[in-house]
Amino acid sequence: MKILIADDDPISRKILSNVVTDLGHEPVTVSNGEDALGFINRKECSVVLLDWMMPGMDGIEVCREIRRFDDENVCYIIINSAREESDDISKALKAGANDYISKKTNPIELKARIGVAVRTAQLEKKLKDLNNRLKYLVRIDSLTGLLNHASILKELTIELERGRRDDTPTSILMLDLDRFKAVNDTYGHQIGDKVLIRFSNLLNQSCRSFDRIGRYGGEEFLIVLPRTKVDESISIGNRIRELVETLEIDNEISNLRITCSIGSCTADNSEKHPSAMVAAADSALFRAKKAGRNRLLSSNE
Ligand code: GH3
Ligand code: MG
Ligand code: MG
Repeated sequence: MKILIADDDPISRKILSNVVTDLGHEPVTVSNGEDALGFINRKECSVVLLDWMMPGMDGIEVCREIRRFDDENVCYIIINSAREESDDISKALKAGANDYISKKTNPIELKARIGVAVRTAQLEKKLKDLNNRLKYLVRIDSLTGLLNHASILKELTIELERGRRDDTPTSILMLDLDRFKAVNDTYGHQIGDKVLIRFSNLLNQSCRSFDRIGRYGGEEFLIVLPRTKVDESISIGNRIRELVETLEIDNEISNLRITCSIGSCTADNSEKHPSAMVAAADSALFRAKKAGRNRLLSSNE
């Protein structure tokens, strides 16, 4: 791990660098507060040893500045100073430092304190990574990697609001695999899952970067098409539908082909409630099924 040492005194820099190296980490040294901030801004280190008294910006100012943009307190800051009064220690900790070390501290204690800093920084990083992973997991359908039911509806709400503000249309496509139960019954659930994954990949490949794709339920999918008029949404839907006809699922089961039915709905200036749009697309989908499947019907026609 890179550990930043900001100190205007070369001897102090040397002592601290040796301790950091002894602990198996990489010391990076600067001699003033401005350079320290520049380095921290690039998010290249998460443990910082700051001297209090430095020319220009002092350690306390640097500490306050770090905390101003580091709102998640990712950086572990140790203030290192010759001052030993309780008031000074209190001031440093109140400025946002995690620890305070006197310049008189011997290398053994120094090593132990920096060890705590590294441990805390590593834990903090682990927690942050886990948190990001959790945020991802609650949004994503684990089988297909598409947005899950709640997330795609949220995206629809966001896109409709945006469309209303910009006075642009928003379209949706509700897609349902045809006779999918028969796929499971004939080839087994694992092949059924493979169909869902292949189908989802095809949707990803055939949509535009700003379209939003979700797994609405078992074998039902919802695509949100921002800034898309009725005829455009119908041609996008039909293009997808035709691609699905040609989709090869498994080279050992060459006769396994799938089709899908699609219901579409467009709100011209996005002035529709998300649930009304879904209901309209759903009923168009129902009609597409009734009419013989492998077709797209629009609720706007
Ligand atoms: P239709 O053309 O009318 O849509 O017929 P269908 O067979 O596709 O529709 P139905 O609703 O009767 O069956 C849907 C099937 O989808 C039943 C269910 O077991 C299957 N299914 C739902 N989720 C999954 C899944 O995650 N994996 C697999 N393999 N199958 C699933
Ligand atoms: Mg189906
Ligand atoms: Mg279904």
